[in-house]
Amino acid sequence: GSTIGILGGGQLGRMLALAAANMGYRVHIFAPETELPAADVSAAVTRAAYTDHAALEAFAAAVDVVTVEFENVDAESLAFLEARVPTRPGARALRIAQDRLVEKDFFTGLGGRAAPYRAVSSRAELETAVREIGTPGILKTRRFGYDGKGQVRIDADTMLDAAWTDIGENPSIYEGFVRFDAEFSILLARATDGSSAVYQAPRNTHANGILVLSEIPAPAALSAHIEAAAAMARKVADALDYVGLLTLEFFACADGPVFNEMAPRVHNSGHWTIEGAHTSQFENHIRAICGLPLGETGLSAHAVRMKNLIGEDANDWAAILADPRAHLHLYGKSEVKPGRKMGHVTWLE
Ligand code: ATP
Ligand code: MG
Ligand code: MG
Repeated sequence: GSTIGILGGGQLGRMLALAAANMGYRVHIFAPETELPAADVSAAVTRAAYTDHAALEAFAAAVDVVTVEFENVDAESLAFLEARVPTRPGARALRIAQDRLVEKDFFTGLGGRAAPYRAVSSRAELETAVREIGTPGILKTRRFGYDGKGQVRIDADTMLDAAWTDIGENPSIYEGFVRFDAEFSILLARATDGSSAVYQAPRNTHANGILVLSEIPAPAALSAHIEAAAAMARKVADALDYVGLLTLEFFACADGPVFNEMAPRVHNSGHWTIEGAHTSQFENHIRAICGLPLGETGLSAHAVRMKNLIGEDANDWAAILADPRAHLHLYGKSEVKPGRKMGHVTWLE
């Protein structure tokens, strides 16, 4: 059998590894952290920094294909791997998706629409950006943000000093605050032959920048938004000659969908596909990177709901299981921390 190498060892890697195991593949995890939810269910683990070229060299020799469950791997390291072993998605997709400025330039360059944004690399540039775009807005670090970390909302131009300090004076973008009716995501799988398939788009609800709920199908009022957004997602995937699962997040606004960000990987808003779609996002990612045909993405139920278990939520698992139709997923993380994603629950109707 073949071995799949995964960069990153969190819950996304864990669910990818489980899907890979179902299909007879071995998984080799490469990640620096001591606690790795993905390592528990994988055949091999390399604990090393993403910049450790000797470790990357050995990893490349030990696997047949490389993929990512975490997009913040140095582009240099990805290129290093790409020169040695098929790497899907490739360095170009990661380089774009790991930088909010590059990502928004790329998306709008393809004809898509994002909230107004400006690059901010100094206090003076923040001043200019806020003057041009106005308030309210959000200052976001270009790199390394997730679950709303690395973001500051700006409601008045008296807040600039504090915001610039809060963001650690890091290279950032300032974007206008979007008054959206709803948020949704497009989950698209693309195979090596260029064929692609989208899932039913979930409607996503966030609290404090963290996804709490995905509901499928999204309300009918979002259909036109979703269709336009899915066409853009296809355009993005084709432009990158992308292989694997790609996620794009959107805001539904009065005048159409507004792009928020993309992730070159399986996504939290796609966890419902494990039970709720004919083929899960994890299986389709594995199929795609292994050069296999994609599986059917349609719903396997009338409606699906996925709720994240964040921090203390997970302690309630006995109560969750009191509902015999709840599909409980726990990621095996030892330490409960506020805001940490510990697991999720899916319900089918
Ligand atoms: P993720 O965990 O999804 O990667 P992230 O840290 O990259 O999160 P974003 O997706 O940029 O953060 O923002 C998190 C949430 O904050 C969004 O889903 C949305 O609810 C809200 N948000 C972000 N940007 C804007 C905006 N410009 N206008 C209004 N709301 C926003
Ligand atoms: Mg993000
Ligand atoms: Mg997001």
